[in-house]
Amino acid sequence: MTDSATLAGLDPITLGDLLRVAGSPGFDRWQDQIKRTGGCSDPIHLTGWTIHKDKTTGETLHHYTTADEPGGRLRLACGNRRASRCPSCAWTYAGDTYHLIRAGLAGDDRRDIPATVRDHPRVFATFTAPSFGPVHNRPGTRPCRCGTRHAEDAPELGTALDPTTYDYAGAVLFNNHAGQLWQRFTNRLRREIAARAGVTQRELKECARLSYGKVAEFQKRGAVHFHAVIRIDGPDGPDTPPPSWATVDLLSDAIRAAAAHSYTSVSVPAAADQPARTFRWGTQLDVRPVKAFGDGSDITEQAVASYVAKYATKAAENTGTLDRRVGELSELDRHGVPDHARRLIAACKQLDPLYPDRRLWAWAHMLGFRGHFSSKSRRYSTTLGVLRQARADYRATQEHAALALDDREPDTVLVLADWQYAGHGHTPGESVLAATIARDLQLNRQIAREELAALEGA
Ligand SMILES: [Zn+2]
Ligand SMILES: [Zn+2]
Repeated sequence: MTDSATLAGLDPITLGDLLRVAGSPGFDRWQDQIKRTGGCSDPIHLTGWTIHKDKTTGETLHHYTTADEPGGRLRLACGNRRASRCPSCAWTYAGDTYHLIRAGLAGDDRRDIPATVRDHPRVFATFTAPSFGPVHNRPGTRPCRCGTRHAEDAPELGTALDPTTYDYAGAVLFNNHAGQLWQRFTNRLRREIAARAGVTQRELKECARLSYGKVAEFQKRGAVHFHAVIRIDGPDGPDTPPPSWATVDLLSDAIRAAAAHSYTSVSVPAAADQPARTFRWGTQLDVRPVKAFGDGSDITEQAVASYVAKYATKAAENTGTLDRRVGELSELDRHGVPDHARRLIAACKQLDPLYPDRRLWAWAHMLGFRGHFSSKSRRYSTTLGVLRQARADYRATQEHAALALDDREPDTVLVLADWQYAGHGHTPGESVLAATIARDLQLNRQIAREELAALEGA
């Protein structure tokens, strides 16, 4: 149950509804369902049934129907990765991303990543966007270019010094092409590595493989930039040792050369009043070796994984844009979207007919960015799908144990099922209870994670 301090702050309608839910006969079962969703704030409701039958005798072994569930529904997690939409599903997603990145750095025997990946050269690199015009810059002891000193949280930070000359169109077109720029970069990086190793591209494939896990982050000015773990493996991925020439220095040097090379660029043709543009990374490139344990100088595995997990759930919200698709520009008024984000969104609308295949208006809420927030090369580490499957399997096993179907061969059981979508969400009282469940679960997992970190001395 929720504590009395929370109850005291509730409006009478929510409080009344909460008491109704908590007092209803199906409450324990409801609570159990919501715990299984991790305290999802907007669960999917399903109605339906499943029958397990013995294939030979036709005997019904088990019959599950949502008719016996509270409200006649089964509730499942929405799975939204954005903290602004569903804090608990975002937390789950952040946890999965953390494990994914960490497994690729430190290894994970449950997921077939050997601990020897620690010996492979790997770095944490940040690729920024170029400038689209001067912005109110960082706060500090020096005054900003505009002549005033800005507080740490001043809303004008990251916004254009002169909105009449700022290249909003360029900014959203860059975001829109950032995924392609990354693609060009990784192609070039293989060439730079091969050149330094003194091998051909074809020979490189036979002795080494490039792996990476990356996450996109929006800078305050609304430009996307990438953080990536980049690693050199042996020819068959993390299980195989990299060749002896593969060092952190060689990798860092190759990354710098590839990022600066003219091949690492994307050209966007002129259209109507828009000039032709060629996009490249910004000049600020940060490449740092990743160390297993902290010695004060380099970045640790733990820090990298936490950093990436944090950005994986943030999307573009820190720029003040919407966290869902924009229907009409007038929606921006209703949601109080700040001027800088609004101009970027308006640029998407204006450019959409000029570059129809870029789908700029559809991605206007992402300020033109249409890539995945986190992505990785095939052999970097385990996939999010595998982690989700592991959780689903765990639940299936629990169900099976509860149904005593465990000792039967799977192919002797016939499963019939019929499911329908029946809506989503919570009543006001359910929302408060689900938030409490989410907080408790999060606290437990946080403690578990901290204990793990302490054990590893990281
Ligand atoms: Zn959710
Ligand atoms: Zn300023």
